[in-house]
Amino acid sequence: MWTKLPEKYFKDLKGKVEFEEPLSRHTTLKIGGPAEVYFEPQEMQDLIRGLDVASALGLQVHLLGRGSNVLVRDEGVRGMVVHLAGRSFARVKREGARVSAGAALSLPRLLRKSISFGLAGLECLAGIPGTVGGAVATNAGGRWGRISSSLDALGILNKGGEVHRLERTEIDFSRREGALPGPILWAEFLLDGAEPGFLLERTQEILTQKKKAQPLTRRSAGSVFKNPPGEEAWRLIAEAGLRGRSCGGAYISPKHCNFIINRGGAKAKDFLILVDEVR
Ligand SMILES: Cc1cc2nc3c(=O)[nH]c(=O)nc-3n(C[C@H](O)[C@H](O)[C@H](O)COP(=O)(O)OP(=O)(O)OC[C@H]3O[C@@H](n4cnc5c(N)ncnc54)[C@H](O)[C@@H]3O)c2cc1C
Repeated sequence: MWTKLPEKYFKDLKGKVEFEEPLSRHTTLKIGGPAEVYFEPQEMQDLIRGLDVASALGLQVHLLGRGSNVLVRDEGVRGMVVHLAGRSFARVKREGARVSAGAALSLPRLLRKSISFGLAGLECLAGIPGTVGGAVATNAGGRWGRISSSLDALGILNKGGEVHRLERTEIDFSRREGALPGPILWAEFLLDGAEPGFLLERTQEILTQKKKAQPLTRRSAGSVFKNPPGEEAWRLIAEAGLRGRSCGGAYISPKHCNFIINRGGAKAKDFLILVDEVR
């Protein structure tokens, strides 16, 4: 599909390196063509080397977390897709009311940890299947709150291979996705003390409400459209008569019209046709 990249650049890279890896294997939608290069560093040094290789070959770098908020084109992605895979990228550390979490840590695990620490502020992440890196990059959350409310600092790998600490006041949450100066390595949250029992109850309550309203167990990428001011996207889609509308293997969820589901075998093209129709 693409001209073969010189293997000598990759032979010393530690971690998984695959050429033309189908990204449908790495997204919750199970849709998407191949990545020109797919790289899973285990350690920070591997990541730095991988980014050097990408730079030497002029490959654009795309970070991928759990792949729960992306639609990958059927033609695939040119460049290097980097998925932080090693445990060293998924550590959690607590100091008083501060919790520092690696970018690869899953949100359900972060939430469980913060509850066990008796620290409140992240319950709004209940039911969101991503990683810390992806959640910070997209400012994940919803009507119960957003991750930005408790985020205090970010660790970013800069172009020189050094970790740069970005303080809360320096983070622009309205920025376009991908506009950060490098991969997010960790995030630090400032939380409030609370009873673990109370936090567990609150989290369960949010989860129960989400399960009732959203097709959480289907292949999706969560809500597709942002809510217009004063409106709810799902309601507008339902009112337009598009509930259940399908194209190829993709359909608009009858349960929550802002979710587009892959019933199996859907292409990105099918998904995008539905997106266009809704627009
Ligand atoms: C069933 C379901 C329910 C969902 N519910 C919600 C919800 O309630 N609220 C909500 O906000 N979202 C929701 N989502 C969407 C998604 O789970 C979140 O946006 C999640 O935070 C994305 O994390 P991820 O690791 O999957 O990121 P990905 O989808 O892998 O990536 C998303 C973006 O983040 C960037 N990124 C990922 N990791 C890094 C990194 N280390 N450094 C820099 N950039 C990075 C990627 O390049 C990409 O631009 C839902 C999705 C599903 C499937």
